[in-house]
Amino acid sequence: MSFSLPQLRFAADALDPHISQRTIEFHYGKHHQAYVNNLNGLLPGSGFENASLEEIITNASGPVFNNAAQIWNHTFYFEAFDPAGRKSPEGPLAGAIDRDFGDFAAFKDAFTKAAATLFGSGWAWLAKNDQGKLHILQESNAGNPLTQGMTPLLTCDVWEHAYYLDYQNRRPDYIAAFWNLVDWSVVEERF
Ligand code: MN
Repeated sequence: MSFSLPQLRFAADALDPHISQRTIEFHYGKHHQAYVNNLNGLLPGSGFENASLEEIITNASGPVFNNAAQIWNHTFYFEAFDPAGRKSPEGPLAGAIDRDFGDFAAFKDAFTKAAATLFGSGWAWLAKNDQGKLHILQESNAGNPLTQGMTPLLTCDVWEHAYYLDYQNRRPDYIAAFWNLVDWSVVEERF
């Protein structure tokens, strides 16, 4: 069994000016592809030859974990983007956000702060635990809430490769742009 790079649901230039075509060409076309290639190269003899990505993420360590989680994380990150998508949550997810964070604006502030203050490379996450309670998590490197038994709902990649071509050192500007791209109907389906 080997993994392949999933198709994007948008054209490479569709996120401009928030995320440029050039960033997508490197982030998806080079980085995401490299994690797929690396994992496929690591699988023979690893004991995970027939495992799903989720099984690898919750059971593996080292380079096998890192590359599998980076494939999953990037697929999940890109899948939430649609510049024409709905820009705020509705229904049960909106209710859970109000219950656990106060309101949507307070949630966005808390998530933005988590993404901005994560030291080094990693991912900010919105996830729910097995009781349905929402949490904002900071995960370094390839970290993923699945390893804590949580259900991921939304993620922001804050590795420098996600924003350096467009925003250089201005990670907060990238995070502000990120909010223009999230399609909340996708997050609701995950919830
Ligand atoms: Mn990335």
